[in-house]
Amino acid sequence: MTEKERRKRIRQRKEARSRVLRLRCLVFFVILGLAAVVVLIGLTRYRGQAGAEKEMSVQVSDVTEEVNTEPVPEMLDLTGNIRKQGDLILVNAGHAYDFEANRDLALVRIREAQTYEYPTDKESFEAAEKIMPALDAMIRACDEAMGTRETSISSAYRTEEYQRNVVQETAELYGEDYAAKYAAKPGYSEHHTGLAVDLGITYADGEAGSFSESPNAVWMAEHCTEYGFVRRYAEDKQEITGISNEAWHFRYVGKPHAAYMKEQNLCLEEYLDYLKENTEENQPLLIRMGTETFKVWYTVAETIQKPEGDYAISGDNAGGVIITAKI
Ligand SMILES: [Zn+2]
Repeated sequence: MTEKERRKRIRQRKEARSRVLRLRCLVFFVILGLAAVVVLIGLTRYRGQAGAEKEMSVQVSDVTEEVNTEPVPEMLDLTGNIRKQGDLILVNAGHAYDFEANRDLALVRIREAQTYEYPTDKESFEAAEKIMPALDAMIRACDEAMGTRETSISSAYRTEEYQRNVVQETAELYGEDYAAKYAAKPGYSEHHTGLAVDLGITYADGEAGSFSESPNAVWMAEHCTEYGFVRRYAEDKQEITGISNEAWHFRYVGKPHAAYMKEQNLCLEEYLDYLKENTEENQPLLIRMGTETFKVWYTVAETIQKPEGDYAISGDNAGGVIITAKI
């Protein structure tokens, strides 16, 4: 091998080594690049997952919060006028009607609101709007039972002024003693509530008859409670009510109360006294009417938890409140 050939071979070897080196470098960097890509992808995926987990954990914690939070019970405010309003308010010689507390009472003219036609002594007679369906149904049922159409209204809502005139006229006609027995003092008449009516008899020719002596009075005394009314002034309760026997005066109190008062022979004064023992904690009164049951209780509390379902609230006009809830 000549010197020239030897050098050539050396050069070729060097070149070959250098090629190998370059190739190795290339492979190294390719691998490094791939590794970097893999790491990057991995990292991105991890971050995404972690983010989603974080989001989910937020949602979960929200749900948990809702489940754990006790629902805030809805409260009813029993202060103020509510104690002087409602179907069970007592109005008698010792309990004046509070006109101001009842200034929002909805009154209607009976002749315009009635769905069954019966006569009223005056066109202008008014009653609380809420008693009209019961009043109409009661008079219709009585007329149907009698086979006549003679039941009429001889008195309904009265203003204080109207009652003043009633007392005066009664005294002029029958004397002071009679007026004191039958006509309440202005401000103390149940007729102020719009929940009371006096029934009469009006014949087809327009002539008036005596309700007390009519068979209608007997029917009404027996059936009025089915419509939520009570015969307010009975002979055997005169000492308690302070009013003599009035066969014609009917007061709306609502069906469950009327039914219970009739069953137990209690006038409104006695019933309200009895209810005072029936607080929610201490044996609320349960009144069953057919398939329906009403829970009735008395309270002097300023607020109570709102009962579930249908309920009615009435003051007793003597500082307490009666809650009637359908259960
Ligand atoms: Zn009356």
